[in-house]
Amino acid sequence: MKRRTEMSLLERLYLGEILRGLVVTGYRFWRNLSLHALHAVGLFRHIKAAVTVQYPDEYKIYPDNYRGSHRLTLKEDSSVRCTACFLCATACPANCIFIEAGEHPDPEVEKFPLRYEIDTLRCIYCGMCVEACPCDAIRMDTYVHPKIWGFNRADFVETKETLMNRSTVLATRGRNALMDDQIADYARQDEEVWERFKG
Ligand code: SF4
Ligand code: SF4
Repeated sequence: MKRRTEMSLLERLYLGEILRGLVVTGYRFWRNLSLHALHAVGLFRHIKAAVTVQYPDEYKIYPDNYRGSHRLTLKEDSSVRCTACFLCATACPANCIFIEAGEHPDPEVEKFPLRYEIDTLRCIYCGMCVEACPCDAIRMDTYVHPKIWGFNRADFVETKETLMNRSTVLATRGRNALMDDQIADYARQDEEVWERFKG
């Protein structure tokens, strides 16, 4: 059977598809608008209307298997578990992990990271660093998505302290605390921008 590879002129204009998209969008818009208006006066409440999560005033609770921002795990004495072996940085396809290794004061431990940084603007959240780590020192089970805005590139580089702090917050305040903190941080940044604009 001969395969058809070329599009007709009508198909190349995409007019049919554009119209089809407008019909679907228009139908959804008016259906939801009408249903919400009817719900407001107590009618047709048994028919569900679509709702949008009003982020950041509210947010979805991510599932248990969600993998988002990184954290560096801690030992029992709250020191960093990472031994600065560079396996994660070597495995990282985006080349966005920077580690500076130092001699550990404990002779039983060879090295530790003086600096451990992830450039989240380059990270593709593939999880290869987590897979590569031989001592469970880095995880992505923080239930928080990557930061979405900042004032400059440096705002998106996560330091060792930030990554360690995530483990502390998770252990002490529970799984939604990091998202609460991130949203509070956005609100603070909003205020800053607004003050700059006014000033
Ligand atoms: S998730 Fe992937 S891209 Fe991001 S730091 Fe880890 S290995 Fe690199
Ligand atoms: S996080 Fe794991 S893989 Fe990366 S340097 Fe530390 S110990 Fe090695």
